[in-house]
Amino acid sequence: MTTMTERIKKLNDKPFNDSGKYVAYVMEASQRAYFNHALEFAISLANEKQKPLIVIFNLTDKFKHSNLRYYTFMIEGLVKLKKAFEERRIKFVIQKSDYVSGSIKLSSNSVALVTDKNYLKTQRAWRKKVSEQIDVPLFEVESDVIVPIEIVSNKKEPYAMTIRPKILNLLNQFLQPVEHQELKISSNDFEFDELNFKSVSEYLQILNIDKSVKPVSEYYAGGFDNAEKFLKIFIEKKLSSYKEFRSDPTKDFQSELSPYIHFGQISTLQIILEILKHYDLKDQNVQTFINEAVVWRELARNFCYYNPLYNEYEGIPDWAKQTLEEHLNDKREYIYSLDELEFAKTHDPYWNAAQIQLLKTGKMHNYMRMYWSKKLIEWTKEPKTAFDYACYLNDKYELDGRDPNGYAGISWCFGTHDRPWFERPIFGKIRYMNDKGLERKFDIKKYVEKYSSL
Ligand SMILES: Cc1cc2nc3c(=O)[nH]c(=O)nc-3n(C[C@H](O)[C@H](O)[C@H](O)COP(=O)(O)OP(=O)(O)OC[C@H]3O[C@@H](n4cnc5c(N)ncnc54)[C@H](O)[C@@H]3O)c2cc1C
Repeated sequence: MTTMTERIKKLNDKPFNDSGKYVAYVMEASQRAYFNHALEFAISLANEKQKPLIVIFNLTDKFKHSNLRYYTFMIEGLVKLKKAFEERRIKFVIQKSDYVSGSIKLSSNSVALVTDKNYLKTQRAWRKKVSEQIDVPLFEVESDVIVPIEIVSNKKEPYAMTIRPKILNLLNQFLQPVEHQELKISSNDFEFDELNFKSVSEYLQILNIDKSVKPVSEYYAGGFDNAEKFLKIFIEKKLSSYKEFRSDPTKDFQSELSPYIHFGQISTLQIILEILKHYDLKDQNVQTFINEAVVWRELARNFCYYNPLYNEYEGIPDWAKQTLEEHLNDKREYIYSLDELEFAKTHDPYWNAAQIQLLKTGKMHNYMRMYWSKKLIEWTKEPKTAFDYACYLNDKYELDGRDPNGYAGISWCFGTHDRPWFERPIFGKIRYMNDKGLERKFDIKKYVEKYSSL
């Protein structure tokens, strides 16, 4: 495991409790049984301490954005993990608890806790709290990116072009398979207080979550097996034209993997290693995919990690705030309420189609996400409102929402990681997009036909 040490951080200075019954991995961001550095580190620690390993998932309904759509997707994945862990001789426990109290309770009988890394404020605060309140070590292992973000850079990177060479220089070193080890002392028969339902709906029934946002399992059903199916289709049918067509919302050339990547059901490391079994690293489509799935994705993590205002209007660059504020009093032709936007009731058929794609399938096409977010700037009284609406709708309906990519993507529409363009009304020097662009570039009417009603 050549690149393991760079991924591990000890979050407190507590000593091992060698009389503990087990080593525990508190799984949160990387919800998978393979290609998971945190899991492999936990196995090696358990083997070294000659203890069993328990993997725990704390299922809570207290999370701000909890709703039926993404809990269904997440639990579909978790249920399948039971079997995957069993095959690896590891006990996987789903317990109804929040991350902090579940981890603290678990720590009293454990030698040490291991967890994975998350870049967002709430989840980082959970880890900090646990590290301070337990009496055993808490190890955080970074398995969500190819190159650990603090190794890439110790500061907020202003542009993709500044972070790209840093990541690409380290790519070969970190693009390494994960060694899947055997757990010496099986924990399969370990008795634990756990939720042990057979079906996804039984888990959902005990959760007090927003049931108004419907599941989208007919489009995207959760689980690593489905992630691997999408990956296979992508490699066999789409990747050879990814560079040419990935931006066209009327064509289906994106990988569709973002919901799976978001929940950690598949890692970008596995995806890229699999691609490289079939394609050369120098292939231009592979290079384009790496630019999205590694450079832009890891830039989004850099952005959230080093900028606590990542999900706020105030977190956009100074030049962008200044130019938007200079145009605060510009006349807006249309002003829409959140309700009108949410239910796709604007005058613009392209925007409505994008919102309908989101409501219906749980995943809007990348190009339309840019257009969608830019239009909010034009159709709200002030850019701060537009920013808040974008975060709200993105987090509520996108299966891959509540992710650094979402906050960085929205912030990009407000000037982050971008440069000033030509001055124009409302937007000032922020890059502008309009319907004429969609009509010029794509057969956009086809997209509207596909997503014309709910
Ligand atoms: C306003 C706005 C909001 C967005 N919200 C989200 C979000 O909530 N969650 C999310 O994962 N992505 C978000 N994106 C980025 C991008 O649109 C999605 O990652 C992409 O559409 C996911 O589909 P895919 O996996 O089929 O993409 P593919 O083209 O197959 O890309 C593969 C992977 O690369 C990464 N990727 C692709 N494009 C980007 C990008 N621009 N920035 C960072 N990573 C990228 C994703 O992990 C994606 O799964 C947003 C972009 C914008 C402009």
